Amino acid sequence: MKKIFAALIGIIIICGIYPYIYPVLPHDIEYKRELVQSSGHSEYTIKNMKSVIGENELAYIIKKYDKHPEKYMSDIEENGDQKGIENLTYRAGLHSHTTFSDGKLTPEDTLNQAAEYADKVKSKHPFEPYPMIIAITDHFNTQGTVEAIDLIQKNPKKYKNIKFVIGMETSVNVHMPSQKEGKDLHMLVWCVNPYEWPFKDMNYQEATENWGEEYKNLVFLSDYKDFVKRIQSLKYGLVAIAHPLRYFDKDETIDKVISELFNEFKSLKKGKAIYTEGYYQPYRFETDNELYERTSKEASNNGIYRTGSQDTHGLSIFKNR
Ligand SMILES: [Zn+2]
Ligand SMILES: [Zn+2]
Repeated sequence: MKKIFAALIGIIIICGIYPYIYPVLPHDIEYKRELVQSSGHSEYTIKNMKSVIGENELAYIIKKYDKHPEKYMSDIEENGDQKGIENLTYRAGLHSHTTFSDGKLTPEDTLNQAAEYADKVKSKHPFEPYPMIIAITDHFNTQGTVEAIDLIQKNPKKYKNIKFVIGMETSVNVHMPSQKEGKDLHMLVWCVNPYEWPFKDMNYQEATENWGEEYKNLVFLSDYKDFVKRIQSLKYGLVAIAHPLRYFDKDETIDKVISELFNEFKSLKKGKAIYTEGYYQPYRFETDNELYERTSKEASNNGIYRTGSQDTHGLSIFKNR
């Protein structure tokens, strides 16, 4: 009896500390070591990378949040209500833009807003291991994420309650059998090495005004499968489909197209490409709820985990514009 009791206590303790020990998985530590080395700053340390999240830890959280839209929704209703923020149920924004692409916030504003919110969550829920996860996913380049790393390294205490995801968003081409013609599809990448990203220094404004062939071929004309394979060949990086309902025509073929896409995406997975945005705003108001639900179900049926975000472009990380 005593033994059973001791074993039970042991299991409870292990389950309790698991979220805390998970971050120290060797692969994520190695990622942080690589970030420190690639940064070129001899004063940067792995210890001060504590707020930067690696792919194993992020994958673990995404799986945990799969059936929890409240973690990703700040609940911006059409009347502007933000119940998810008021009630402190909101936990993660895995897609946001800064002044390094078409966003209005600087990386510093982004981190500061996330940290302020995280501190509030932490004061109300002292045992919450992940008060707020925030990603910067500018279009094509990773300059904003490099700036964010610098801020975290210089002031780790200020950002101790957040987890920062180094990401980017790209545009690729998708052409499923049920589509008349190929379409632009956005994909998110998380937990990459921003110092070695191919378009790390790309000037978004200049590039979008005058797309050079070097960019155009890779970011617009490349097939999404090639892009996924490219990420899978990297040592670090997860890949997700961004706002899947935004780029397909709402005609009778949409269910088929989504189904084909998720099916194929899943077959490419190898553990790195098993994510799609399922909880995102404000597109859910542009789309009918039934379609939204069907897409979400289709993801689930294919073993693709749903994530979410505000796809921030404006002055608040909790809103889209
Ligand atoms: Zn997008
Ligand atoms: Zn976006």
